[in-house]
Amino acid sequence: MLIERLDTYAEKELSRPKRPKEKHWPSDAGVCIRALVYRWRGVEGIKRQARTFFIFEDGNLHHRSIRELLRQAGVEFVMEETPINDPKMRLSGKLDAVVRLDGKYYVLEIKSVNRFTFDEIMHQGPREEHALQLNLYLYYVQNLFRISTNTGILLYKCKDTSRFWEFPIPFDEKVVNNFFVLMHSVDDYLAKNIIPDRPYKITDWQCQYCDYRQVCWEGYATEEKNKFAEIKEEDLVNFIGELLWIREQIKELSEKEENLNMKIKEIMLAKNIESGRISNYFVELKEQTRQVLNQELLKEKIGNLEPFYKSSTYKVLKIKEL
Ligand code: SF4
Repeated sequence: MLIERLDTYAEKELSRPKRPKEKHWPSDAGVCIRALVYRWRGVEGIKRQARTFFIFEDGNLHHRSIRELLRQAGVEFVMEETPINDPKMRLSGKLDAVVRLDGKYYVLEIKSVNRFTFDEIMHQGPREEHALQLNLYLYYVQNLFRISTNTGILLYKCKDTSRFWEFPIPFDEKVVNNFFVLMHSVDDYLAKNIIPDRPYKITDWQCQYCDYRQVCWEGYATEEKNKFAEIKEEDLVNFIGELLWIREQIKELSEKEENLNMKIKEIMLAKNIESGRISNYFVELKEQTRQVLNQELLKEKIGNLEPFYKSSTYKVLKIKEL
């Protein structure tokens, strides 16, 4: 009843014809250069699903509500959702906020992420592209708005657990300059009408999640296929077929397991159930702390970690779709 309407609305929004990109955006940070050139050229990517639209909308909601909560918590907002325009660099964007704490100005960048990303960030630090984006905003706040600030705050919210995590990010001009160099090379490719080489392999996550993977890798399968001799041994072909089938099943079951896990946790949290019993099974939802070695700190204290690694060689069976 309602879901169909929501889906239809999302599909209508998503099917609006995409205009070629006209400006560089701070959110281009971390995006594959080949994908950026496709975007500028207005190449159609893979059609996005309604869920992507809702995820994006959720992000906007989180941003608004976090700002409101911060305001209620006494944080002073100096700028909010402020557009940035740099005609020289052909760059435009919108910064989340500039806040004043104890007389000092900070650029605030809010990111709402799922629990997997949140977990990764807590253990490994902020995503490089997020820190770069924040550095760009710091640069523009200093240079366009003439506000004296050299630190930003990256505030992460986990959408699944409502936990927060923050990182102070000191301004690093080198990072900003590297981004500008990258944008200049995008301009160069466009001017010369060249599509840059693929910086990733087809199996890399960047390509797996890229909207342009179809157009980018078109024809690649045939090129690759012709590089290898066909295996004709019947038993080998059968075993490999069976193995691929099993892998597919495992993947499907793992996704189902993950979804069920999430639903159960959601219900237990919503109903305030911490533990209980179902027949002979004890069920509990408890906080757990994971510890991982801080490689960066180790490197800092010990230096080169290479001598501490022991290596062994073994054969790995690799099967990938061409
Ligand atoms: S598919 Fe991979 S190489 Fe191609 S544009 Fe996307 S990220 Fe870049």
